[in-house]
Amino acid sequence: MVTEKFLKLKKKILGEVAENFSRAEEISEINTLKILNAMCALKVSDAHFKTSTGYAYGDIGREKLDELFAEIFKAEAALVRTQFVSGTHALATVLFGILRPNDELISVTGEPYDTMQTVIGWKNPARGSLKEFGVNYKEVALQNGKVDLAAIKNSVTTKTKIALIQRSRGYSMRAPLTISDIEKICATVKNVNPNCITFIDNCYGEFVETREPVEVGADIVAGSLIKNIGGGLAPTGGYICGKSELVELSSYRLTAPGMGNELGASLGTPRLLYQGLFLAPHVTAQAVKAAIFAAGIFSSLGYKTSPLPNEPRSDIIQAIELKSADKLIKFCRAVQEFSPVDSFAAPEPAEMPGYADKVIMAAGTFVQGASIELSADAPLREPYTVFLQGGLTFEHAAIAILHAAQAV
Ligand SMILES: *Cc1c(COP(=O)(O)O)cnc(C)c1O
Repeated sequence: MVTEKFLKLKKKILGEVAENFSRAEEISEINTLKILNAMCALKVSDAHFKTSTGYAYGDIGREKLDELFAEIFKAEAALVRTQFVSGTHALATVLFGILRPNDELISVTGEPYDTMQTVIGWKNPARGSLKEFGVNYKEVALQNGKVDLAAIKNSVTTKTKIALIQRSRGYSMRAPLTISDIEKICATVKNVNPNCITFIDNCYGEFVETREPVEVGADIVAGSLIKNIGGGLAPTGGYICGKSELVELSSYRLTAPGMGNELGASLGTPRLLYQGLFLAPHVTAQAVKAAIFAAGIFSSLGYKTSPLPNEPRSDIIQAIELKSADKLIKFCRAVQEFSPVDSFAAPEPAEMPGYADKVIMAAGTFVQGASIELSADAPLREPYTVFLQGGLTFEHAAIAILHAAQAV
């Protein structure tokens, strides 16, 4: 039960964030129109939703979906597949597809997301990593949580093959990059080395703004279909969009050299991917509103939140510093308890593949682990920051957020 006190608080916060809610709705309208225009122009039809089996040569649904993603991202080509097991897999496919022994990769936005550490293998050694294949790696540290353009200029050389740029904050307190930040970073990199490939980890960023990274100088982007762009309907998968040659190289890593994008059965998923894409701007806006609301509630209770309630957004993540492991666990348990699926489960901190610290995750989701659905997670480390994201409907997110606030 939400108490009278918290119902009052809800009303107060909704008043304070009204303008930011309108902005989220406006962005959703613009992105919906963009997708509708692309679907109409490319003549999406019922025939594209038919399932394919086996090698799936000539699968028109798969080919049309690639075209549609490319159109929406203003990219030359795209590779949208349920054969990607996660966002990390899509990101790794780009890196392994393009990089060759002795090439240099630079992360220009500080330490990459936890699961990328084992892919790269320099900080968190792992079998099969890029390091094992002889790929060199450098990192440009952030300066007070901000991207350091001067340091990027000094670190990128004519030998740098890929500059990795992470749009979202991941499990950190740094602000996510805006599209105009990405524009500046790409320009800085290209200024030193026009041949250096700018590669964006686009996870959690899709449709939070009205433009996507390829429009401002990114050569290639990748992300997960069980975050923003799957609209809550995609059952699994990932995507890659960008320059044709780079997407092609990536496709040889996903399937096999010589095969590329011409195989891959859809096994009943096409309609969900198309329909999820169509819903994605709206669902993303629901998640953005949930994040804004959570920031409002928790900052009014005295917690440090990032972003602040009325700061502009460029991903769907809301970080809240809870300062104690106990509050972190209580918060996650409340989110789980007020979930439509597995509400009876009590999340426990545990080791997770790809993560260095123990992690606690609340995700009572229809699609396992889908973080476009309301979910909360946190590595068990100081200052016990919880990362809340998603929410297919704002109504549901508000109920869970209020109960989490009561619980802590
Ligand atoms: C979610 C995410 C990924 C990929 O994670 P998966 O769980 O493998 O989909 C990569 N980078 C960032 C910043 C992310 O948020």
